[in-house]
This record gives sequence, structure tokens and C-alpha cells, in this order.
Amino acid sequence: MLNFSFQNSTQIHFGERQIATIANEIPADAKVLVTYGGGSIKSNGVYDQVAKALENHQWSEFSGIEPNPSYHTLMRAVEQIKAEGLDYILAVGGGSVIDGSKFIAAAACYQGDDPWDIIAKQHPVDTALPLGAVLTLPATGSETNPAAVVTRDGTKLPFYALAVRPKFAVLDPSVTLSLSPRQVSNGVVDAFVHVMEQYLTYPVNAKIQDRFAEGILLTLIEEGPKALAEESSKDLEVRANIMWAATMALNGLIGAGVPQDWASHMLGHELTAAYGVDHARSLSITLPAVMKIRREAKADKLLQYAERIWGISEGDKQQRIDQAIAATEAFFRSMQVPVRLSDIELGASDVEVLLTKLEQHQMVALGEDKKITLEVSREILNAAL
Ligand code: NAP
Ligand code: FE
Repeated sequence: MLNFSFQNSTQIHFGERQIATIANEIPADAKVLVTYGGGSIKSNGVYDQVAKALENHQWSEFSGIEPNPSYHTLMRAVEQIKAEGLDYILAVGGGSVIDGSKFIAAAACYQGDDPWDIIAKQHPVDTALPLGAVLTLPATGSETNPAAVVTRDGTKLPFYALAVRPKFAVLDPSVTLSLSPRQVSNGVVDAFVHVMEQYLTYPVNAKIQDRFAEGILLTLIEEGPKALAEESSKDLEVRANIMWAATMALNGLIGAGVPQDWASHMLGHELTAAYGVDHARSLSITLPAVMKIRREAKADKLLQYAERIWGISEGDKQQRIDQAIAATEAFFRSMQVPVRLSDIELGASDVEVLLTKLEQHQMVALGEDKKITLEVSREILNAAL
């Protein structure tokens, strides 16, 4: 196992009617900005529950944080915070609202000239406004982690700062019942790929992390299709298991002491930034291609994955790896997400566009061993055609 330091300080309130707990989590004298997206929280009752919980607090709101949150939108929230003297942020939504609110929290305290430097130049974030989260879409793990991804004019990049990790997060599975099937499958697939980015590398004898990771993968494979099936789509236990699995997939625990890949995500971000592909639907295309091109470097873990996740034990090593990749693609297809660039009507000329973007963003040494050069990315994207 590799050395590691681990802390996850986010207080989690899990279960039905837990939104009420925000009344006690947010200091009574805080001046709160409630941030949210395009209005789903107005139609599913979440907004009303938040308003009720905050009835004794002073608060304002900022709406319109879009999927893959835009820098320009987020900077308008920063202006509002400064104009109204606000000092606490409550993000109510999915990964986009929570990520966007992390950037707002950091940018509101940023002392330099341009807060975009937090992302473009990876300027460290030492202070940020305190942030709480009410999660409405299980997928990203953003509700308890220190990461955020922000888009500015066709560039989508991440930043990481302990200062923006939410102080608390409310996970009420019942609020996910209003998700569209597309967003349900996006969430399951994103969480699945988060686990794979931390699991499918090379062995370091981290047996506990491997078993945790495998437990999350098996849960998502078991529960994901149930959340889409007519007869079980409203089953709260299914939703609860998916919600907790998605949080556990990226809260730092399974990633402690192991190598991490993240190439599927970096390639996927370019797909999203250039063509507006949903985050998870970019990953269901990039991950199988990464598995194919990196099969030698990942062989040991691919064989473990084949056996422990899919029960594949017949055939020689290469055949078992082929079967494991095919099983992964079949799972993605069963979750109704694309697995090829051609599934979303992209082709060879688009690969060139993506490669130019990768070069521009200096994504030229990706993967757990930094061996995914631009040329290897070309092979991966070609394999995804
Ligand atoms: P999202 O972009 O936050 O939301 C997608 C859509 O789902 C929105 O249109 C939203 O509508 C709707 N929605 C959310 N909750 C709903 C509910 N309960 N009922 C009905 N509709 C609902 O999706 P996401 O997958 O959670 O977040 C994706 C973003 O997170 C991407 O930018 C991705 O790069 C990033 N990400 C971050 C991390 C991390 O570690 N921080 C990891 C992976 C990905 P409204 O706008 O109306 O609410
Ligand atoms: Fe993701």
C-alpha cells in the first residue's frame, strides 16, 4: 500500500426528511446564499423544505447554475455575495451546483487579480466561505470531497482545495425520485467510473481498498438497472443504496494509498467541453477505450476485476481481459449510455479536435503512470470510434 493521509470532515445527514437538519448545521447568525440550478428543486419540493429549514436564518438565493457550471455564471454569484455581505453558501443540487458553489466559495475570498487563476494556474485556495450541500443527484461525490470542475468558454478544468470541502451534506434519497431516467443512469455510470479510476491501475497490495471498491462496483451493477426498471424505479431502498454508493465512490476512502488514473475523466472533460456531451456519457465512451489501450499496464487489476466483478475465470489472460471489457460495455449499454463516439455521431475528424484541446490544456502525461502521452490519447480516442 502507498503512504497516505486521510480525512473526510463532512458531516453527513442521510435519510428521509433530513433537510430539516440544516437549521442546526448553519450558524444562526450566518448570512446565507442558497445556490441552485435550473429549477428542479422548485418542482420537487426541495426548495420548500430548504426555505422551511432556514425560516430563522437570513438568506438570499442565486439560481441558474447550469450543468457543467460556467465561470461567468459563478462570478455573478460572487458579485452578489460581495454586494450583500453574505458569508455562508448552501448549495442545493447535483454535482454542477455543488462544484460551482465550491468555486464561488473560493473566488469570494480570493485575493489575487483573477479568480480563474485558481483553475488555470492552480493557485492554492487557503480560505473560502463555508459551504453546506443538499444533494439532489447521486453521482459525483462532490458533496463530501474537495474537488470541483468549472467550464469557461469551451475549457473544462478541475481544481482541488480542502477549504471548499462541504462542512455538511444532506443525502435524502427520496429527493432523487424526481430525476429523469437519463440523470439516474448518468449518476450510476459516473460513480462507477470514479471507482474504476481508483481501482483499475496496478496492484499495491491495498486489499481493503480493493474490496471496498469491488463492493461499490457490485452494488452499482445490482441497483443501477433496478432504478431504471419500471417496477422498481420508485423503490427508496434502491435509491438509498445508489446514493450512498456514489458518495463512497469519491469521498477519498477507496483512493487512499492506491495509484489513481483519471485519464477517462480528463478525456471525457474535453468531450463535454467541445460537444456538450453529458459528463457520464463522456466517461462511458472513454473508459472502455482506456481499458483496451492500457490493457498491458493494467493487466493484473483487469484480471482481478474480471474475476471478482464479473465471475470471469475461463480462457487465457487476454481472453479474460476481453470479456471483462465487453461486460463493462454491456453494463453501460444496459444503463442506456453510449459506449462509442459513433453512438453520439462523432468521428475521426472530431478525434483531431479533441487532441488539439488536450494539447492546449497540457493533458499530455495522463494516467496512473503518466504514460498517456498525446499519441496514446490518439490511440485511445481511435479505439473509442
Ligand atoms: P448536474 O449537472 O448537477 O445536474 C444534471 C441535471 O439534473 C440538471 O439539469 C438538474 O436540474 C437535474 N437534477 C438534479 N437533481 C434533480 C432532481 N432531484 N430531480 C430532477 N432533476 C434534477 O449533474 P451531476 O452529474 O451531478 O454533475 C455533473 C458535474 O459534476 C459535471 O460538471 C462533472 O464534471 C462534475 N463532476 C464533479 C466531480 C467532483 O468530484 N466534484 C466528480 C465528477 C464529476 P436543475 O439544474 O434544474 O437542478
Ligand atoms: Fe465524474
